[in-house]
Amino acid sequence: QKQGGKKIHKANFDIDLPGAKDGEVVTRFPPEPSGYLHIGHAKAAILNDTIAKAYHGKLIIRFDDTNPSKESQEFEDAILDDCKTLGIVGDRITHSSDYFDEMYNYAITMIKEGKAYCDDTPLEKMRAERMDGLKSARRDRSVEDNLHIFTEEMKNGTEEGLKNCLRAKIDYTNKNKALRDPTIYRCNLKPHQRTGDKWKIYPIYDFCVPIVDSLEGVTHALRTIEYSDRNSQYEWMLEALHLRKVYVWDFARVNFVRTLLSKRKLQWFVDKKLVPGWDDPRFPTVRGIMRRGMTVEGLRNFILGQGPSRNIINLDWNIIWAANRKVIDPIATRLIALDSENIVPVTLKDGPELHTEQKPKHKKNPKLGSKDIYFSSNLLLEQEDAVALKEGEEITFMDWGDCIIEKIDKDDKGVVKAISAQLFLNGDYKKTEKKLTWLAAEKTVPVVLKDFDHLITKDKLEEGDNFEDFLTPQTEFTAKAIADTNVENLKVGDIIQFERKGFFRLDSDKDGQKIFFSVPDGRNKSRI
Ligand code: ATP
Ligand code: MG
Ligand code: MG
Repeated sequence: QKQGGKKIHKANFDIDLPGAKDGEVVTRFPPEPSGYLHIGHAKAAILNDTIAKAYHGKLIIRFDDTNPSKESQEFEDAILDDCKTLGIVGDRITHSSDYFDEMYNYAITMIKEGKAYCDDTPLEKMRAERMDGLKSARRDRSVEDNLHIFTEEMKNGTEEGLKNCLRAKIDYTNKNKALRDPTIYRCNLKPHQRTGDKWKIYPIYDFCVPIVDSLEGVTHALRTIEYSDRNSQYEWMLEALHLRKVYVWDFARVNFVRTLLSKRKLQWFVDKKLVPGWDDPRFPTVRGIMRRGMTVEGLRNFILGQGPSRNIINLDWNIIWAANRKVIDPIATRLIALDSENIVPVTLKDGPELHTEQKPKHKKNPKLGSKDIYFSSNLLLEQEDAVALKEGEEITFMDWGDCIIEKIDKDDKGVVKAISAQLFLNGDYKKTEKKLTWLAAEKTVPVVLKDFDHLITKDKLEEGDNFEDFLTPQTEFTAKAIADTNVENLKVGDIIQFERKGFFRLDSDKDGQKIFFSVPDGRNKSRI
């Protein structure tokens, strides 16, 4: 029997945190404010939030702001917004920089106890020594020397200080390279977005995280599995500083085919103007996928549905879009759009006058209410449908009824120019082979449909691959269409289905131009 196991709603696994007590669990989501949240961060945020709630505990959103060279307030604001979008507000919002004083003092304690030393070995050499398990020439510096260099030279960012870093004195020969005297403090003269020019030295992630976790009362630190080599280092820091133990719980990182999940690489696309911004629908950011038509529920279901596997796999986007489809399919209003460059007019003999009738927005979900559909004797079909028709054939107009095709006019290339037909509402639509989408010719609204491709061509970039060598030449596709008048009632952000085309999200509606983005549905075909 598991201790403290919790069944998480909609998840296909139990969360079983070691040492977890109901009401006392504290988790944290620690983004670095160096970019917008991407889907990997969303997984971390959702897991931390879900686990905290399952144990009636607390979630801390902590900005891990220890590197002023990469971070900014703009990113911090965007991350908080994105968390809110995901329904995550946190019980506290904190910053690693709130603890710069404490961390500085802990570093001094470590030096005094002979557990840290200043090292001015050139970077390349230090790296090589670490790889080979060699002792640094500076490892045996005296406590006095180390204190002087750290608190006078490094702290003030002097020329001598800049040459040095502070390293934890753990074990330079350890099989686990993470324990080979990791760097814990480094100089940086760039002013910090919150602490200004107060500090010229900044703690390194591996030193900062265990200390702040412990000080903030975090009981369970969730980390992606590739950090597991660093778990013993995390424990070492807590023990060396006589700090409270924190349980580390590993979870699988998510990666997706043909997708870059690195803020630095995404920033490159923004800087090169290959995308207009971080919310681009081709970006794996929370903003990007939401613009593409992802729902918060779909995203949560996908993440919690992943199960307890700790294998890092390269996921296909179809999996997550299929999870999203389950959410949007039952509630997306059904509308009609036709490719406006390939339209065929149909004249109905003895057809109706132009008028509207109410039809359900969704045949299988009457709760969604109704929409007005224009009926007329002048209809429009898509060329692709028209060209497949035969004279004398009985077909069905969707949401209306059957008709008999009487005459088809084609030009010498076989392109259909016009059709005349006779309504046959007593026909049996269950027996017809073709159910066609149509519009009343007098009442259509022009729209723009867009579809997108992944930014890179290779499924999985390997070590040594340069992503710049694998850029997809064309990633945005635009088509013009005409839609039924119900598109006039949509708001930006609404997700609908254009019958027989797929799901679309209204992305913008400016100067009378409605632009819809196609929402992938996990079936992997373009719909425009
Ligand atoms: P990036 O390389 O994009 O900057 P990062 O890991 O350095 O990513 P952080 O802001 O430090 O970004 O990460 C915040 C949290 O999100 C961390 O807990 C991290 O483990 C988690 N995280 C980042 N990427 C992924 C991913 N692909 N899958 C799952 N969790 C992730
Ligand atoms: Mg990071
Ligand atoms: Mg990273």
